[in-house]
Amino acid sequence: MRSLEEMQKAIADFCRERDWDQFHNGKDLAIGISTEANELLDLFRFKSPEEALAAHPEEIREEIADIFFFLLRFAERNHIDLDEALKEKMEKNSRKYPVEKAKGSNKKYNEFE
Ligand SMILES: [Mg+2]
Repeated sequence: MRSLEEMQKAIADFCRERDWDQFHNGKDLAIGISTEANELLDLFRFKSPEEALAAHPEEIREEIADIFFFLLRFAERNHIDLDEALKEKMEKNSRKYPVEKAKGSNKKYNEFE
């Protein structure tokens, strides 16, 4: 598996060759993440999770890749270290969702008693 940096470089090269840097500002890349996430969501419309996964395996794989593309590109263009950001957010989440309160629960952190 390639590193995040290697994947970001491959995307940057792909975009540079097409002169797309001019379009890849924070706003438009954020729209890209959201749009692609909604394309994934659309595959599940009016279906059970199992039906959607069985009906659209290739499309789901492609939409996940689209989301990942925009996520990697957003982070690269905005100098965000994804590994660090994820680590920090997981630490934050572990404080918001302590095991003793969150284990087996689907409650949001502000619903804990
Ligand atoms: Mg797509």
